[in-house]
Amino acid sequence: MKLEKYSFGIGDRFGRQGKAQLAAIIKAKKLGINITPVWNKSNREHTIIGTTPQDTRREADEAVSAASWTDPYFVDADHIGLNNVDAFIESSNFFTLDVADFIGHPAQESDIQTFIEKHKKFIGSLAIPGINRTLDITEQQVQAIAGKCLLAIKEAGKIYRHIEAAKGAGNFITEVSMDETDEPQTPVEMLFILAAISDEGIPAQTIAPKFTGRFNKGVDYVGDVEKFSKEFEEDVAVVTFASKEFNLPDNLKLSVHSGSDKFSIYEPIARTLKQFDAGLHLKTAGTTWLEELIGLAMAGGDGLVLAKEVYAKAVSRIDELCAPYAAVIDIDRASLPAPETVDQWDEEAFASALRHNQSCERYDLNFRQLLHVAYKIPAEMGQRYLDALNQYEDIIAQNVTENIYERHIKPLFMDI
Ligand SMILES: [Zn+2]
Repeated sequence: MKLEKYSFGIGDRFGRQGKAQLAAIIKAKKLGINITPVWNKSNREHTIIGTTPQDTRREADEAVSAASWTDPYFVDADHIGLNNVDAFIESSNFFTLDVADFIGHPAQESDIQTFIEKHKKFIGSLAIPGINRTLDITEQQVQAIAGKCLLAIKEAGKIYRHIEAAKGAGNFITEVSMDETDEPQTPVEMLFILAAISDEGIPAQTIAPKFTGRFNKGVDYVGDVEKFSKEFEEDVAVVTFASKEFNLPDNLKLSVHSGSDKFSIYEPIARTLKQFDAGLHLKTAGTTWLEELIGLAMAGGDGLVLAKEVYAKAVSRIDELCAPYAAVIDIDRASLPAPETVDQWDEEAFASALRHNQSCERYDLNFRQLLHVAYKIPAEMGQRYLDALNQYEDIIAQNVTENIYERHIKPLFMDI
């Protein structure tokens, strides 16, 4: 199985918007832009919501059959490790091996020495096509990188071989992710991480590093856009170089996690992809469910009441809801509107506070971030929430499709 040049991770908390998500990809295809849809959901999301990997598979299959989509599509076991991969084996054909927890745990000295010996030729001054400086690499540097990352990549190898034994080689896509770490990886680190991935025999088609800056859930990028652009460009150059040099799949590409809504870096990303003729996988971090809330609010009546109820409950349980996401949200609690204030809002007021339109003065990033992590509330509402999604399906679908197409696909893949 081979992942195509452009692919898009469409996470969906409640598994109800597959058709509306796919509609955005079909819209792009009609204009000549081919994007492979990948339904991704992590074990963490399944646990909080009470869904199973089979639910994600069902959503994807139903969406694809309803739209008569005949191109490839995938179901991604997102951020899995050896302890939870088994539940995903049957329903997934894309596996994101998460080894972030193992980064920084020192590898065996003999493994480090073997690694240095094997990749000795990169020590010194290294020129990589597309990078307009030479990389000066010392043995100490390689030793430090191996010390920090080798054990993690060996763990990825174990997970890969476990999946391979169950599904057979070539029957699934492999991604290696290191985005949930404290420190961003430099392009030089990426080079040696890819060398280690190749040494482990992992046919990775995508790699998700941690980039410089903050990728908070559901809101724009926070950081130095110039610095990000340079790093992204060098990462793309390294990935292209490494795929040839280390005999990794020739479609190897970067995967950007928490990629939804990072509007200020889409332009440099799009420019770099064009410049290098490179591919991209971009995972959205479950913002589709915020479009469900926007749709419910816009519907008015019961829909608006339900949306307000979700917010009021989110405020009252803020500590509990934010805890699992502490590292990837920045909520200024003092600036959150009081539930009593929100209670007075009409359809438009609620929808425009939540919708990610930074040029709208009603847009409220604190409100949006809190609701982003509050999906446990509608999960607990259970059937009542799902019934509302059915009742207001049309207006919700419109918002889901428009968000993916207008605010994500267009600037990333079409506007350049
Ligand atoms: Zn991630």
